[in-house]
Amino acid sequence: MQRRDKWNATSGVSRRGVLRLVGGATACGLTGGSLRSAFAQAAPHTMKLGDAEVFVISDGTMSMPLSFALPATDAKDVSALLATGRPPLTAFKAEVNVVVVKAPGALIVIDCGGTSDFMPTLGSFPDRLERAGIKPDDVTHVIFTHAHADHLWGVIDPLDDDTRFSKARHVMTAAERDYWLQPDLVDKVPDAVKGMAVGTGRRLKALEKRIEAVKPDAEIIAGVALIATPGHTPGHVAVRLHFGGASLIVGGDVLVNPVVSFQRPEWAWGADIDRDQGARTRRKLLDQLASERTHLLGYHLPWPGIGHVERKDTAYRFVPS
Ligand SMILES: [Zn+2]
Repeated sequence: MQRRDKWNATSGVSRRGVLRLVGGATACGLTGGSLRSAFAQAAPHTMKLGDAEVFVISDGTMSMPLSFALPATDAKDVSALLATGRPPLTAFKAEVNVVVVKAPGALIVIDCGGTSDFMPTLGSFPDRLERAGIKPDDVTHVIFTHAHADHLWGVIDPLDDDTRFSKARHVMTAAERDYWLQPDLVDKVPDAVKGMAVGTGRRLKALEKRIEAVKPDAEIIAGVALIATPGHTPGHVAVRLHFGGASLIVGGDVLVNPVVSFQRPEWAWGADIDRDQGARTRRKLLDQLASERTHLLGYHLPWPGIGHVERKDTAYRFVPS
């Protein structure tokens, strides 16, 4: 019953929220300054985008084993790129930056975070959304970049196995919905993602009547349009926000790591369902971001995930704002 926690009157942080934060930070091996920055992320990051306001709300952090993230790359090459020295890197840390847009006449949530049963360090988004003064019933649109656990599972309220956002349109590409609703999907995917296939399939079934299946280049409302970015999943999209002459691209999982995804976009990314297509999509989006100089908001990039892309040698680099 996360939404019914009593907030501590002095700090504004619920006791359950604090316990989850400390537990999550410890599980990730965060201490000292990192722990302080994790506490800072209990509050949203906000920015103006023309006549809209963008909130970034942390759902928590994830740890991605290197052997899973980069299955075809020698760990020595990764360490050399990241200049980590010793001990060798064994896992990437990834933020989970949920985006909420207060636009004229609309309140849009882009992806919903994960749940603590998927990863114990996730699941803070619902509490933090309400702490930011945003009521779930006021949300008009929920847009999913894709249906992986850390993006979709947080939409479900476990109290009634239905959405937390009962008045919102729930938007996903038809390709994404159809992929995860295949009845025999669990038999087709590798062992490592069978749990994801079952968990996402069950939640999408619960949401099926609410899902509005769209094309991957659909305009959802004026100023909010999808960009087809397949590869990570078959129906993956990025979201272009454009308000009052200002633009921001919410990149989903096209660009996950602040070094590897930008400086070695051709390296096969283990979480991409189609790794060749994922690499082509990465290049294409990087080229677009660098050419347009549009700001990027990365779901898994270092908090709050905002920056721009510059060309560097034969690839690119991420410049945080
Ligand atoms: Zn993700």
